[in-house]
Amino acid sequence: MSTNTSTTTVFKRRESEARSYCRGFDTVFTSAQGSEMTARDGQTYIDFLAGCSSLNYGHNDPDMKEALIAHLQADGIAHGLDMHTNTKADFLETFENVILRPRNMDHKVMFTGPTGANAVEAAMKIARKVTGRSNIVAFTNGFHGVTQGALAATGNGYHRGGAGLPLNNVTRLPFDGYMGQGTDTADYLEAMLNDPSSGLDAPAAILLETVQGEGGLNAARPEWVQRVARLAKEAGALLIIDDIQAGCGRTGTFFSFEEFGIDPDIVTMAKSVSGFGLPMALVLVKPEHDVMGPAEHNGTFRGNTHAFITARVAIEKFWSDNAFQDDIARRAKIVEKALQEIADMVPGSRLKGRSMMRGVDVGSGELAGDICARAFQNGLIVETSGPNDEVVKILAPLTTPDAQLEAGLSILKDAARDVIGTTKVAAE
Ligand SMILES: *Cc1c(COP(=O)(O)O)cnc(C)c1O
Repeated sequence: MSTNTSTTTVFKRRESEARSYCRGFDTVFTSAQGSEMTARDGQTYIDFLAGCSSLNYGHNDPDMKEALIAHLQADGIAHGLDMHTNTKADFLETFENVILRPRNMDHKVMFTGPTGANAVEAAMKIARKVTGRSNIVAFTNGFHGVTQGALAATGNGYHRGGAGLPLNNVTRLPFDGYMGQGTDTADYLEAMLNDPSSGLDAPAAILLETVQGEGGLNAARPEWVQRVARLAKEAGALLIIDDIQAGCGRTGTFFSFEEFGIDPDIVTMAKSVSGFGLPMALVLVKPEHDVMGPAEHNGTFRGNTHAFITARVAIEKFWSDNAFQDDIARRAKIVEKALQEIADMVPGSRLKGRSMMRGVDVGSGELAGDICARAFQNGLIVETSGPNDEVVKILAPLTTPDAQLEAGLSILKDAARDVIGTTKVAAE
């Protein structure tokens, strides 16, 4: 325990105030396997945060780990800039054969710096270069990263405030459902695009998440996304789907938009693309829009060969047939049922998101925060999302065995019951 305390102190003493998740989960983690993390004091936690969807296949998948260890043992390349390596070739071939070809996607794969924000920066630059236009349409509650260009497209005022300079060349329009049930915000987008006097500068791109991860698990209806895709085409703008959080199986299929029948010009991927939680990001771009010259969008870490290895194993292991997809659908039903029970405890609450990217909007950030804090005391890692942190958000690894999934959900339900009980008593 004493080492635990002194180790915790070093974070307070030396780690920047910009630290965040560690504040809500105040312990020191030392190991993890599957959907469970273990702290230095021996306490185990079921992990329903999964690195914000960077660990869709759980912690330390044995097959990815084995392949990585074999590579290290053999003195395989650790860093190769973006030079040709066997690991990059193997990843690209697998990605082509298992993911792109079966989905009739002719996209080129552009490796960017290893963060999601860097992939979004690249996507925005490509769209601007292709069209010669500077403006980009993004949506309310969208989250696209916190580097300057990507941050301009991010809605969250707290993050935007950190920029310290005006964030320009993005026009924000209402996401699906933003104005309530009676209004189709695509009507507004269409009117703005078609009225030469609307004041909307012709956009280089329309950028969206099909399910807004940080913005409160707002799931766009397929019809809305299809219409936005059509409107983008008519306006001569590229359609960029930011699939950094919703992709890699989180919403039930490899890409979040697979069942929408759209053909995005650009797709950004990061978070779970390496499969193992290693940094890796990429941009999928239609060949006709693959306009960046050599190193025009550059980055020292575009060839994270360790990530190529685990990413290749992840795709072979989980996406070569439909078994994993079927498993996700089954587990999503288990999650939905439990969340509905929580929603039933809180008047006015509602379920958010889709598939394994689900949550419950409990109406207040305080209540959602209290539920997550209580859950953590009882051995569950779970976070909030939304403009006021009012959504309890479940991002369990997609591989979580049913019994463990039920156990985590049961902790969450008990936490909700406890917290709501206490609140009621306090109010009386
Ligand atoms: C996390 C996220 C990003 C930013 O990724 P980083 O790796 O944190 O830079 C961008 N878009 C979406 C949808 C995300 O969820």
